[in-house]
Amino acid sequence: IIAMGIETSCDETSVSIVKNGRKILSNTIFSQIKQHQRFGGVVPEIASRQHLEAMAHVAEQSLKEADISFKDVDLVAVTHGPGLIGALLVGVSYAKGVAYALNKPLVGVNHIEGHIFANFLENNFAPPFLCLVVSGGHSHLVYINDYGDYEVMGRTIDDAAGEAFDKIARALGLGYPGGPAIEEAAKSGNETAISFPVAHIEENDLSFSFSGLKSAVLNYLNHQKQKGEPIVVEDVAASFQKAVVDALVENTLKAAQLKDVREIALAGGVASNHKLRNELTKRAGDNFRIHFPPPILCTDNAAMIACAGYYQYLRGVKHDLSLNAYANLSL
Ligand code: ATP
Ligand code: MG
Ligand code: FE
Repeated sequence: IIAMGIETSCDETSVSIVKNGRKILSNTIFSQIKQHQRFGGVVPEIASRQHLEAMAHVAEQSLKEADISFKDVDLVAVTHGPGLIGALLVGVSYAKGVAYALNKPLVGVNHIEGHIFANFLENNFAPPFLCLVVSGGHSHLVYINDYGDYEVMGRTIDDAAGEAFDKIARALGLGYPGGPAIEEAAKSGNETAISFPVAHIEENDLSFSFSGLKSAVLNYLNHQKQKGEPIVVEDVAASFQKAVVDALVENTLKAAQLKDVREIALAGGVASNHKLRNELTKRAGDNFRIHFPPPILCTDNAAMIACAGYYQYLRGVKHDLSLNAYANLSL
């Protein structure tokens, strides 16, 4: 089965062709980062308009790269939430048009489920496993018992991990998107220079909280400025990154022990962070096997949507042309 995946939930217009849920024939990604950079974040109205302009071109480019044409597509999978509503509507409308014109099945995919399924691309990894989903808008610990059978074990009670990276990067003048900029600056910084607090909710609670850490970093920056003391951006970046990673790794290992699983996967944009990958791998030791997609499959892409759509289709899920988009679709 050849699936066409379509992703427009945020600021990437992406179309991908994936064979049998695993083999990527093409994964075309048009990033709008340049259009949003000067605003320091994604502007929803600009995102929608950019998607509308790019959509058809990205699809044609993707078919070309896969060396197939529309008539070879067996299934159309599209992100229908969560995300920016105006952005989602562009992808959903386009997907409906393609499915209708080709008379092929249409499947609406949850974006977060898509991030998790990025772990299945180009390999034969399979459930059950525990997944830490850390992206721009979500921080979830999900137990994947089987395809389509999930248990959310923990989530953030305030900011998402990626959101924290973006906000601190902005405060440090490192620009957007913040994650890669903080990771880069942290390379030449001392992560023990400043001790930022990591929120511990309660012993058996698997929730995350990053707003306290965010305030601590902002307070530190204000304090240094008021005293006329220097701010070493690299040290702040490294110390902040360490605090986030420690919190993520700690809860992930706790959850894995509770479920008695051997396999732990990472997903979402923050999963491309090497400090997180290395620290989790190190602390897992021989007890757990750690999996993570290559960076390009961690951030938004349509290959993960095609993959998730394929497995949904195998489970008998199909949508009709009344498929809608939902800004807050939950897993
Ligand atoms: P969501 O998936 O929750 O709807 P999103 O689609 O905007 O949100 P993703 O594309 O999965 O999020 O990831 C983008 C986020 O990942 C941004 O917050 C970005 O700062 C963060 N990120 C990307 N690369 C890195 C990195 N190397 N280190 C830390 N964070 C990173
Ligand atoms: Mg993005
Ligand atoms: Fe995402």
